[in-house]
Amino acid sequence: MRESNDPRDEVENVSSGDECDSSSESDSEGGDSINGFDKTDPFASRARILHPALALNHSIDADIDPELFNSFFATEAFKAWSSGTRSWQLHCYGDPGSGKTTLAAVVAQRLAQRGDAVASISIIGHVKSTSLAFVEDLMQSMHNQIGNQSSDEFAAYQTACSEGHPITERIKRLSAAISSSHSTKHLILDGYDLINPALQRVLDTELYLLQHHSLKVLLTRRVPAFCTPTNPACDICDEEELNTWWVCRKCREDGKEFWLCYPCKEKLNSDCRNCKNAVSFEEDYEHVNVKVGGMGQGLENLARERLKGYFGDVEDETLQMVVEYVHSKAAGNITLTLLYLEEIFAWGDLSTFDPVRIDDRLPRDVIAFFDAEMKIIDQLNDTERHTTMLAIAAAATTDDGVPLTELEECVRLAMPAPPDIDSPRSLEDVFQAANGWL
Ligand SMILES: [Zn+2]
Ligand SMILES: [Zn+2]
Ligand SMILES: [Zn+2]
Repeated sequence: MRESNDPRDEVENVSSGDECDSSSESDSEGGDSINGFDKTDPFASRARILHPALALNHSIDADIDPELFNSFFATEAFKAWSSGTRSWQLHCYGDPGSGKTTLAAVVAQRLAQRGDAVASISIIGHVKSTSLAFVEDLMQSMHNQIGNQSSDEFAAYQTACSEGHPITERIKRLSAAISSSHSTKHLILDGYDLINPALQRVLDTELYLLQHHSLKVLLTRRVPAFCTPTNPACDICDEEELNTWWVCRKCREDGKEFWLCYPCKEKLNSDCRNCKNAVSFEEDYEHVNVKVGGMGQGLENLARERLKGYFGDVEDETLQMVVEYVHSKAAGNITLTLLYLEEIFAWGDLSTFDPVRIDDRLPRDVIAFFDAEMKIIDQLNDTERHTTMLAIAAAATTDDGVPLTELEECVRLAMPAPPDIDSPRSLEDVFQAANGWL
């Protein structure tokens, strides 16, 4: 077991201190003077270091079998997104420890193996400052991975750095440099909700612009973006609650709605059965949500293999009991599965394994995992923390959660009267502050 308590540490993140030396390369170029002033910005000559919250996300934990994610790769949403022809972002959401960082690394590896340009970035710490430096560094890391280092646009960015142009202009030039290559490129961004909401909006805007220049974006996040549920039903086969769909633009202009699921669209050969117009279908949404997880069987197999590997020959009955014990505790969570396995390895002898005795106390590492998480909530300000803790406590009183009206009543108790600026204004605020624990 590694010492780190950080649950995001599922993957060894390769830190990349040498990412940002580009600004120092152009030191010698900007030496001419205007009105006696040196054009070179003295602050720009120092080699910049990458934002501490950013890391490349390439390596895949040897404990984790990429096959675990096969059900994710089989989803219509992933297949469509990875075809590189779609306009929307793919948002992969899941509980803390559900394997999002590993999934992101596995996706990046698959795309790279197929020869695609991929930038794979993990956000490994909370980004609290609203300084645009984070956005610049993130985009520079993207450019390092998928951009052309010798393009005129990138040279213009380097000049802007060495001459100390404003950061908004530098970001604009970086954006131009990234979009200067016209081929399809991918950004896999892990840990989106560690970015503060203000910078999320800035980043959203930058990514949206790049998406018009063949950038395909996949995000991982704990809490899916809040939106009104409008998932339509297919007008051909009546399949309901579609996660991905096509809508006819011509019909919509005429005040009618005509929706299609993917399989029906394929069968129709792109003619609208309603208005008989060809090629008028579009996907009128900005992102598609897919839940990470649902790999219960895969995790049971992983637990069985690792137990066999550690203890050698084990009676089938004992093995099955231990596997079921781990499964009942970890509830499909990769990180918890691995933590409980560690605890069982520490037990030493499977023939004396006793679920009741091991249950007496939560395994140390499991406690550490929850502790680290609660510390994050601890760092919120008073109002946010009280509402969040109350909401989690209220939701935890029963196994299947509480109705939202009841949740609101509990949360209202915690709010200062009159409400202050940090009081939640919507359910979204409460869920966001709870950071995946609701
Ligand atoms: Zn949405
Ligand atoms: Zn259909
Ligand atoms: Zn139509």
